[in-house]
Amino acid sequence: MPELPDLTIVAEAFHAALAGRPVTSAVAPGPLAVRGTPDEVAALAGQRIGSIRRRGKLLLVDLDRDRIVVNPMLTGRFQLAAPRTKQPTKTAVVLAFGSRDGGPPPDAARWTAGASWMPADDATPEVRYRDPTQMGKVYLLPAGVERSVPGMADGEQGPDVDAPELTLDTWRSRIRRHPGELKNLLRYQAFVAGIGNAYSDEVLHAARLLPFRKRSTLADEEVDELYRGARETIEAAIDVLRQRVPPTFETQVRDFLAVHMKGGQPCPRCGTRISEVRAGGFVTSYCRGCQR
Ligand SMILES: [Zn+2]
Repeated sequence: MPELPDLTIVAEAFHAALAGRPVTSAVAPGPLAVRGTPDEVAALAGQRIGSIRRRGKLLLVDLDRDRIVVNPMLTGRFQLAAPRTKQPTKTAVVLAFGSRDGGPPPDAARWTAGASWMPADDATPEVRYRDPTQMGKVYLLPAGVERSVPGMADGEQGPDVDAPELTLDTWRSRIRRHPGELKNLLRYQAFVAGIGNAYSDEVLHAARLLPFRKRSTLADEEVDELYRGARETIEAAIDVLRQRVPPTFETQVRDFLAVHMKGGQPCPRCGTRISEVRAGGFVTSYCRGCQR
């Protein structure tokens, strides 16, 4: 499932590669994934990309007039490709882009400068959104059309886990409202946005706290450890992914994680065999040796 670090890479790279380019065609070979009418899809053509950003686990694309919000859910993936290259199976939406002048936008992420995958100004790249399980959704939000996006309403999204405004003091006060299990708490987007199943395991390992421990049992310093674990884990993952993900943005890189999906292997910190619990289709991995 794409989480904040995965989507940050896509948003930063696509913003650098596509801002300023006009959409030359928009098609939806997988209309089940689209919340919007065929006319609304077609009307994207001719509009220029203003910005591509991430918020929580959503990708936001602002065009001249309309907006697109993508929630990739479990298996949605984005590909940046040259035109006429082979389209992946289960492609739901394809946007083709024209050329631009003046290169990447001034607010492009610094790490994208001079990247080998960056399409030349006169190139005509495509973005393909594919989703094998068809669980993700592409919401078209044309100017003047009211269409709600689940998860984006007031109060449904807390601050992004890497947001500057999420200070330690803010964390301490926000967490008081949530007495339950730590893994659920970290994945609860209204508390903090961007963390899912994989990175919640990583954050808890970094903070040396067990996933099923209740927040109401934490000492003050453990609440602070959880904050530091969350911020440092996410920041470090973004650094790794900036180097490892491009140019295949559709690939999810997870092999560098410390515990998630590493059940049975030795904990990188203490050597104890990593435990794994499967519930509701989700794997929780943790270390009984060094998490309490
Ligand atoms: Zn351990």
